[in-house]
Amino acid sequence: MRRLDVNSEDTHAPAYAGRWFTHDVPKYRLPSEGMSADAAYQLIHDELNLDGNPALNLASFVTSWMEPQADALAAETLDKNMIDEDEYPQTEVIHQRVVSMIGRLFHAPAGEHPTGTATIGSSEAIMLAMLAHKRAWQHRRREAGLDTERPNLVIGADVHTCWEKFANFFEVQARIAPMEEDRFTIGAAEVEALIDERTIAVAGVLGTTFTGQMDDLKGIDELLATVNEREGWQIPLHIDAASGGFVVPFSEPELEWDFRLPRVRSINVSNHKFGLVYPGMGTVIFRDRSDLPDDLIFHINYLGGDMPNYSLNFSRPSNSVVLQYFNFLRLGRAGYERIVATVLENAQALAASISGIEGLSLLNDGSRFPIVALRSDDDGLNLTALSHTLRERGWIVPAYTLPANAQRITVLRMVIRESFSRDMVDLLAHDVHAAVKAQRSGGPRRERPRTRIHC
Ligand SMILES: *Cc1c(COP(=O)(O)O)cnc(C)c1O
Repeated sequence: MRRLDVNSEDTHAPAYAGRWFTHDVPKYRLPSEGMSADAAYQLIHDELNLDGNPALNLASFVTSWMEPQADALAAETLDKNMIDEDEYPQTEVIHQRVVSMIGRLFHAPAGEHPTGTATIGSSEAIMLAMLAHKRAWQHRRREAGLDTERPNLVIGADVHTCWEKFANFFEVQARIAPMEEDRFTIGAAEVEALIDERTIAVAGVLGTTFTGQMDDLKGIDELLATVNEREGWQIPLHIDAASGGFVVPFSEPELEWDFRLPRVRSINVSNHKFGLVYPGMGTVIFRDRSDLPDDLIFHINYLGGDMPNYSLNFSRPSNSVVLQYFNFLRLGRAGYERIVATVLENAQALAASISGIEGLSLLNDGSRFPIVALRSDDDGLNLTALSHTLRERGWIVPAYTLPANAQRITVLRMVIRESFSRDMVDLLAHDVHAAVKAQRSGGPRRERPRTRIHC
């Protein structure tokens, strides 16, 4: 986090030869006078040109383009607060329709009472799901006359940082199954070694942050069936489908990763990834209303009416929910299928054209998730330096080291989104080839890889 620069008297000097304003404007102190809206717009607009170009950002899964009609709806709904259900009842109706469509896409069982809510992203969705599982575990323990100390959560080292955040903030021990140099996901064996009577939940990932792969969700589900039965436990399985939840249902509808697996009690998805809406929106869905303990629901009446609420935030924008509804109506299943097929094709084309480069091997060829991940063989291509060279052309392609025990491996990862055309794929592949050639002729640069990645 940036430190506050409390002493700085740095100012914006007038630009455009004084056309907009002629006085210095403080950067770190509230200016004593304002300026015209045109001037403020121009000043900020110009400064933001220093940001990377979202269209060239292959580091992020997050949507950077929507249709103009979506932009219009977003602008029209900017002024509505999602929490004011009594004031904006139709927005709440749309919210419910969106959650219902997602629940049904994930095969929420009709015989139960699936329930869910939109969130600000998958991080909030995961916090809410895990809080529910922690509280449900505490209730079960108390009813059985047992203590509720030292709850734990079993995850793989392939999870997103928000999982460690949950464990840290909500005081649950994170039991993390490490990666190995030839395994970047987890399965039943890794989970079995870590679960016990204090496990509030096991989480599996559909589309991991690091390599874009899938944990053995079916295997973990079967393991939990056996262990729960044998020990009399009720350990639930949560699926983190942040990136894969809007891919697999359209590309491999027969793949069972969701509520079709009986131990899956909750799922999160990031709508701002392949749900194709701008940041920030995620969704959490519980298999049944009973997975969400009543004592976590707050009833608020000061906005009018009685509104049950389960969220971390209170106020939040409503436009992302409206945008998700727009995409659902606009695209339908067929539209999502077309888009997913195209991004997968483009990812595979990119993988094919750079996989031939000597010294690089593919960790992910884009066939299941639209992600191309490469590692450097031991001959010393420096992927961090390669990432910097690509940045000079404007491409944002992160290089990072994998978590333990695969920390010796550096990975270059590219996420292919809808807005990334085949032509862009060819241009990027060309520049990767050129950057490799330049590195080979100049000798490897010695730079330490960064461990932080953006998703
Ligand atoms: C992106 C991502 C997250 C975090 O999601 P946000 O919507 O950015 O909060 C969590 N898990 C996985 C697997 C992700 O890809």
